[in-house]
Amino acid sequence: MLPPYRNEPFTDFSKPENEAAFRAALDQVKAEIGRHYPIVIGDEQISLDDTFPSLNPSRPAEILATFSKGAVEHGEKAITTAAQAFKSWQYVPVADRARYLLRAAAEMRRRKHEFSATMVLEVGKSWAEADADTAEAIDFMEYYARQAVRLADSSHLLYPNAGEQLGLYYIPLGVGIVIPPWNFPLAIPTGMMVAALVAGNTVILKPAEPSPWIAWKLCQLFWDLGLPPGVLNFVSGPGRTTGAHMVAHPQTRFIAFTGSREVGINIFEQASKVPPGQIWLKRTILEMGGKDAVVVDETADLEAAAQGIVVSAFGFQGQKCSAGSRAIITGTVYDEVAERVVDLSRKLQLGAPDLGRDIDMGPVVNLDSMQKIMSYVEVGTQEGELLLGGSPVETADNGYFIPPTIFGDVPSNARIAQEEIFGPVLAMIRASDYDDALAIANGTEYGLTGALFSQDRARLERARHEFHVGNLYLNRKCTGALVGVHPFGGFNMSGTDSKTGGPDYLLLYSQAKSVAERL
Ligand code: NAP
Ligand code: MG
Repeated sequence: MLPPYRNEPFTDFSKPENEAAFRAALDQVKAEIGRHYPIVIGDEQISLDDTFPSLNPSRPAEILATFSKGAVEHGEKAITTAAQAFKSWQYVPVADRARYLLRAAAEMRRRKHEFSATMVLEVGKSWAEADADTAEAIDFMEYYARQAVRLADSSHLLYPNAGEQLGLYYIPLGVGIVIPPWNFPLAIPTGMMVAALVAGNTVILKPAEPSPWIAWKLCQLFWDLGLPPGVLNFVSGPGRTTGAHMVAHPQTRFIAFTGSREVGINIFEQASKVPPGQIWLKRTILEMGGKDAVVVDETADLEAAAQGIVVSAFGFQGQKCSAGSRAIITGTVYDEVAERVVDLSRKLQLGAPDLGRDIDMGPVVNLDSMQKIMSYVEVGTQEGELLLGGSPVETADNGYFIPPTIFGDVPSNARIAQEEIFGPVLAMIRASDYDDALAIANGTEYGLTGALFSQDRARLERARHEFHVGNLYLNRKCTGALVGVHPFGGFNMSGTDSKTGGPDYLLLYSQAKSVAERL
């Protein structure tokens, strides 16, 4: 008997005891700096001479940990091992599989700040952002554990047939390759991985290059619970080679990916090929980028709208697929909102987030990312008016700090209004009226999240139908989806709309078997 699902509460860091506990967790994690973490395939740990570092983007000289650079042969071995483990894991009763998730959730809750502190160091999350990431990971485990038990035997959904006993069972697929991004480096790998495991599949987790440390800690949590060897394998290594090899492998049954549009399309294409010896069509679960908009009309609560724009644009330095990187504002209130957005953004505290809970914005994740973002800032200066930011902030430790950067009067078809920048860059766009604003909002190839601030009932209703995004928010920010509350995933080039944290998600990791026995 399970208590009803509820979201993990966020930590109130204004309470001195919580602040002290978080500082202690940071110290604990800092004491672990400098270790090497192996590839784990079955019960074997493989340490290679060829390694790569996980760096602290606030102080890139600080090497937090090193990881073995897994090659194609390690991917190969992991798939064979996972295929072997699948032979028995698929028949482990769903309640037993769910129990691993529940026990892992309980343990992660006990060690919550340790996991969050790891993300503060490894990817530069603020305390609040890291805390929310860990809470989401816990939510995924609690939620999918319950969903798996609900789904596994769905025989009650069938209509009776005289003289037959009927069954409808959701059974697993096989070996899955789980390929997460680095930006929700705990919640996203947890979500994809535990969904696959609880549905009865075996997994190879290939962490994103900037965030292998937190991914390793997640896997270790499951290994420590006595998960049978080979059910969860950890292969760190380059996506382009090792990841791509596993995607193409004939024994791979499915790929769960979250990341960029470019890589998502590549995986979609590669997975559609049927190499010799492959006896199924691979399934792909692909969640990709966004160019999300916050729309504000002249009836809106303008202060709430300005606050919503700022949080959506600059939370975790704009490095969210759900980030509100466009603010589309109707003409009569544009100037007032733009001014307020600039004012509020100017007040955001930038710095190394391990320094304290007051830091709102940390660094961007790495040098490549910083260079890409700055090249878009360069483009932006040709396309709009720079209202705030625009140059990196230099620090003694050469951290990758970019301040909130805002461009005004950006044309809706400008590159900075169409392409995902994935950094703290906001394009403000002037719309002539609500019709125009909605057309601009829908005028990208993405369709992930969107928000509308308005007090006009007819417009709010119209947005429900016409604002073409997977996650629509009315009179609130466009980030911060909660598991089980706001099932998450986008349309068009934002991916396959898998709706993580929703009641249908586990279907993607399962196949239905119908059984009829003549009585
Ligand atoms: P990315 O560059 O696409 O990388 C994602 C993962 O794919 C990494 O683990 C990467 O490994 C791997 N990879 C790269 N090339 C590959 C290949 N050819 N075959 C197989 N795997 C490959 O994305 P990112 O920079 O980590 O994350 C940012 C992106 O994720 C943004 O576009 C963001 O919008 C998107 N995102 C979407 C959602 C959503 O729910 N829709 C949520 C979060 C983030 P390496 O790191 O080793 O290259
Ligand atoms: Mg890092």
